[in-house]
Amino acid sequence: MQTKPPSPIAVIGAGPAGLMAAETVAAAGLPVLVLERMPSVARKFLMAGRGGLNMTHSEPLADLLGRYGAATARLAPAIEAFPPAALAAWSATLGQEVFTGSSGRVFPRALKASPLLRAWLARLASQGVEIRTRHRWLGFAPEGGLRVEGPDGESLLRPAATILALGGASWPRLGSDGGWTGLFPGDGVAPLRPANCGFRLVWSPHFAERFAGTPLKRIALAFEGRTIRGEAMITREGIEGGAVYALSAALREAIAERGVAMPCLDLRPDLPAAEVGRRLSQPRRAQSLSTFLRKSLALPPVAIGLVQEALRGGMPAERLPELVKALPLRLVAPQGLERAISTAGGLRLEALDERFMLRRHPGVFAAGEMLDWEAPTGGYLLQACFSTGRAAAEGAVSWLRDTAPPPGGPRVID
Ligand SMILES: Cc1cc2nc3c(=O)[nH]c(=O)nc-3n(C[C@H](O)[C@H](O)[C@H](O)COP(=O)(O)OP(=O)(O)OC[C@H]3O[C@@H](n4cnc5c(N)ncnc54)[C@H](O)[C@@H]3O)c2cc1C
Repeated sequence: MQTKPPSPIAVIGAGPAGLMAAETVAAAGLPVLVLERMPSVARKFLMAGRGGLNMTHSEPLADLLGRYGAATARLAPAIEAFPPAALAAWSATLGQEVFTGSSGRVFPRALKASPLLRAWLARLASQGVEIRTRHRWLGFAPEGGLRVEGPDGESLLRPAATILALGGASWPRLGSDGGWTGLFPGDGVAPLRPANCGFRLVWSPHFAERFAGTPLKRIALAFEGRTIRGEAMITREGIEGGAVYALSAALREAIAERGVAMPCLDLRPDLPAAEVGRRLSQPRRAQSLSTFLRKSLALPPVAIGLVQEALRGGMPAERLPELVKALPLRLVAPQGLERAISTAGGLRLEALDERFMLRRHPGVFAAGEMLDWEAPTGGYLLQACFSTGRAAAEGAVSWLRDTAPPPGGPRVID
């Protein structure tokens, strides 16, 4: 009598979390089938590679774990089991040694994702992992199994277990569009919101025209007791960039509560306020304000433009030193998800057990950015995606071992 081959574990979503889950399942010796709705895999991962691919961070593990805020306790076991050092070692096995930048951020030597992804896909293929692109998961079938739409129409898949790694909803054109949120009635999905995002504020047409796309270098941004030194970028509709992203969770919550957030920009963080005051108390003579600010404080045109913008908005000129050290920005809304680096909200962590299995769907696991956690930029996003992808796969493998039917049992794939 012929025995049927065992059904594979299905991984839905071929981003870093899904591919890591697939590799972990394959390494455990089980068959795995990856379904991806886009024509090619890991598009957001490749996009992250455009910025150098900051894969993780080198700070002490306790500090790193603290970056996940309210989700720390829930994510810690997964990250401790596959910490930054393990991620670095894994990357090296794919020919991509990592290095630590001066900020403590960790990058692959190639400073992009494509060589790592190429090597990774080759290794997955050699492990027997099957990847089907242009296959979209449509939801759970009422009779059990997964509804999947492929180029040949809709079919029903009955995998041995399922690992969902569908991503958040930022940059939806790269594949993760958050379309899955309606597929979990009753499981509890926290609304998807932009994270590590820019913010809208109203510039004068003249300022927007002249400075949209201009970086603000070596500034500091302060909000609710936290000050971030770094860079920002003026956009036509507001402001974005590293310093803004770092404060974005608090700024977003303040806007949700009060309709507005007012962080303060320090245009010369390296100069004490008293020194700024001293320099600006010198006689201006016939100099224009712009020339005076440039000569006395070496401010670039965009910073001078910001000061002038504040004065036009009604700030009294006597407060010039204060404007340089703490220029208030009136942020009225986060920029949309389509330009955010990541997504807050998602499948609530309480909906999962400690193996990352959905309590209401035995045999279905979830990982990556689709879960309800957020973290700043700095490599924390990918670190959590890799670690939870691995943890969910280990959960699926151990669940299957615990619940496996006797040999020859009815594990059939349609
Ligand atoms: C511009 C940019 C730069 C970034 N830079 C960094 C960085 O340097 N460091 C860092 O840590 N993070 C960075 N990130 C964030 C990081 O890329 C994401 O957190 C990470 O890709 C999320 O991984 P994931 O596997 O959970 O989801 P994704 O990478 O979003 O993958 C999910 C996959 O699931 C597929 N999918 C969705 N729904 C379905 C469905 N119904 N059926 C089948 N397939 C489906 C999607 O097409 C997608 O391929 C950056 C993000 C952006 C946008």
